[in-house]
Amino acid sequence: MKMHDVTGTIYEGMTVYKNKPEKQPKMNQGTDGYVTETRLELDVHTGTHIDAPRHMVVDGDTFETISMDDLVGQCKVFDLTQVEDGISKKDLERFDIQKNDFVFFKTKNSFEDTFNFDFIYLTQDGAEYLSEIGVRGVGIDTLGIERSQEGHPTHKTLFAKKIIIIEGLRLKEINQGEYFMVAAPLKLEGTDGSPARVLLFEGLQ
Ligand SMILES: [Zn+2]
Repeated sequence: MKMHDVTGTIYEGMTVYKNKPEKQPKMNQGTDGYVTETRLELDVHTGTHIDAPRHMVVDGDTFETISMDDLVGQCKVFDLTQVEDGISKKDLERFDIQKNDFVFFKTKNSFEDTFNFDFIYLTQDGAEYLSEIGVRGVGIDTLGIERSQEGHPTHKTLFAKKIIIIEGLRLKEINQGEYFMVAAPLKLEGTDGSPARVLLFEGLQ
């Protein structure tokens, strides 16, 4: 069995969405004699994380409605490193995507460590295609699954079908194929997302 950690590291000065300084995590290390206790302040959308519908839908479901049963199981990684802009229905049609699949998209973003404002994203028609199939979840190696789309149709299309969205994956070392996924977020209540440790296993069913 081989394990791949596809999680980004969280640290002060890390890559954050649109390089906005207010999105940087803050780690205040408090010391009292020999006791050290860091207070961590961060957006729930920092690094590798899972979105809840509340992120883009008024009164949408909050994070605790996402079941761990849907975050552990088989996962298909697809190589979309040839895509130059948005991942569309046309790009996805050539893959074997089935109902209830959890799909990860590996793009050029996994090879960049700084924030690229022209990052690869999922188009609305790509999201509609996935929602028609009825996938369980979709993961992407960018800090946003859509890029400056008016009204956020990609998020909304996926959330309308309760499709789980994982953003900020690091898939550079991962080949296209099937894996066993463990996506373990913090057990948060009432939020619109949570950072998560995401692991892919080879040879586990
Ligand atoms: Zn997010």
